Amino acid sequence: MGCFSFLCKECNKATLSDSFRGEQVRLYLLKDGKVIEELQGEYDSYGRIFNKDFTDSVKWKIGWSAVCDLMFHPNKGHGIAAIHEKCYKEEKPITRSQDDPNQGWGDGDDADLKQAISKDSKKCNAMFTKIESNERKPK
Ligand SMILES: [Zn+2]
Repeated sequence: MGCFSFLCKECNKATLSDSFRGEQVRLYLLKDGKVIEELQGEYDSYGRIFNKDFTDSVKWKIGWSAVCDLMFHPNKGHGIAAIHEKCYKEEKPITRSQDDPNQGWGDGDDADLKQAISKDSKKCNAMFTKIESNERKPK
């Protein structure tokens, strides 16, 4: 299980991945309802896609912490929208994907939830800092 599990904007089912291979997806990074970056490939379960030989993930150009900020922003026109390749209908999303409810996130406005989300955002940032520092080590 990854940090991010999204629901497809078309079929409302989760984009699945076992962290080694994943479903064919299109990921859109949105800002104010506009696509600022796009990734296409197999979902890596961490809000990105695998590279062609599955040795690494393709990263967002704006950097992970900027992605996290968009993802957890109260404005739903910010963040990542995921669409299964098989569900894609030549239509770009304008709002981000909902989180997979199996990850335990609801939709609401209460303070507890906001606090929990901001905590989760920090947790994600910490996790990615760890992943990226591991990636920098020689193999
Ligand atoms: Zn779908």
